Amino acid sequence: MDNDRRGYGRRYERDESQLSTWDPKTKIGQQVRAGQITSIEQIFSTGKPIKEVEVVETLLPGIEDKVLEIASVQRMTKNNRKQKFRATVAVGDRNGHIGLGVGKDVEARPAIETGIRDAKKHVISVNLGCGSQECDCKAPHSLPLRLRGKCGSSEIILKPAPRGVGIVASETVRVVLELAGVKDVWTFSRGRTRDVYNMALATYTALAGLYELKNIEAMHISVPLPPPAAAPHQPARPAPEASEAQQHQAPQRQAEAAQPGATSAPKREHEGGAPAPEAGAAPANAPA
Ligand SMILES: [Zn+2]
Repeated sequence: MDNDRRGYGRRYERDESQLSTWDPKTKIGQQVRAGQITSIEQIFSTGKPIKEVEVVETLLPGIEDKVLEIASVQRMTKNNRKQKFRATVAVGDRNGHIGLGVGKDVEARPAIETGIRDAKKHVISVNLGCGSQECDCKAPHSLPLRLRGKCGSSEIILKPAPRGVGIVASETVRVVLELAGVKDVWTFSRGRTRDVYNMALATYTALAGLYELKNIEAMHISVPLPPPAAAPHQPARPAPEASEAQQHQAPQRQAEAAQPGATSAPKREHEGGAPAPEAGAAPANAPA
């Protein structure tokens, strides 16, 4: 093994000869080996779990892995503290498939390898599309609709963007979206956005929600498109600023309510934000 010098974020290539000597243990593995299953979507449609990484490696030969984080986790025992490494790994083929996994070990490298295997077992399909009102090109360069994902206090909103925008996101979120194959998207994050593990899982959860919605669409139930953006070039901003902005808005509204008729134009541009506690205001139409 000469690859001990590899750094984080590099691709850990597996020995391809392992695939040729693969002895499948599961029925799905045997069918993949025999060539009866030729696409990973066939497995997803059955709803059965993938328990062998070779299944994913065979069906998605171009799958890449990226180590998002190696964290040191500790636990106190009777006489000392035990230290382990926790590797958070994302895998994807940059064409509509993404997986996220975690591996723990007393050493970093086995933790990464366990993480890669875990991520490959959790590969999901992402139905790319173009839900941007400004673009509307039907090409799979963005997402078909607005998505939201949450893990712990970390929350992410993914919003379709027109061609050429790129991925407007933090480092962790960007890596996950790149591996999934999303090219243009706006993101808005809230909560503990520094937490790599939680942010990655929130992004993964958001993309997983899309797959479930797509099944609903297949049953001819119309999927609601996001409302047209009022200020599309608004950058992703952290939660404290957003809540401050709403606190500034709140007294202004009370002043408007005190003087009816002065300015009667209703402001409803606070999408995605938590509704500020205000008395006597009309109920804001929160996005579903
Ligand atoms: Zn488009």
